[in-house]
Amino acid sequence: MDFKLDGYCGLYCGACSMVLETKASTAEKTCYGCKSDGPAGHCADCAIKNCARDKGYEFCIECPEISTCEKMIHFINDPEYPNGLAVMNNMKRIQAVGVETWLVEQDQRWRCTNCSTSYFWYDQVCPSCGQAVADYKADI
Ligand code: SF4
Ligand code: SF4
Ligand SMILES: [Zn+2]
Repeated sequence: MDFKLDGYCGLYCGACSMVLETKASTAEKTCYGCKSDGPAGHCADCAIKNCARDKGYEFCIECPEISTCEKMIHFINDPEYPNGLAVMNNMKRIQAVGVETWLVEQDQRWRCTNCSTSYFWYDQVCPSCGQAVADYKADI
């Protein structure tokens, strides 16, 4: 199955622990990303994804209702998942450079600069070599 790592909401799925574990073949439950044929967890049945698909958008930033959309407002401001704070900046970058370039940038951004290991949104040190890494807060 192909990984699809750009979320309708603007998340980069490649820094999600479920996707990282799937890539490492250590996942209890596999996930291939928001737009893939095999999403998991919350993202298997997501109101934002369903809404964007119904309306024909690739990203919620295309939607004229985004500034008043309760689903996105809740998602961006959910204290349990503060990586949501980065999605508006992510989607603005996608609009500026295109999704393919953004995916390349994100793959690089979420790797340790010392050993190149991919890491999780909330990691503050590389899971492989222990070097300090930039977590989601660098993107908000
Ligand atoms: S929260 Fe919804 S829209 Fe965002 S990545 Fe997950 S499934 Fe996709
Ligand atoms: S209404 Fe909200 S969830 Fe639906 S496409 Fe627009 S911004 Fe996204
Ligand atoms: Zn490292």
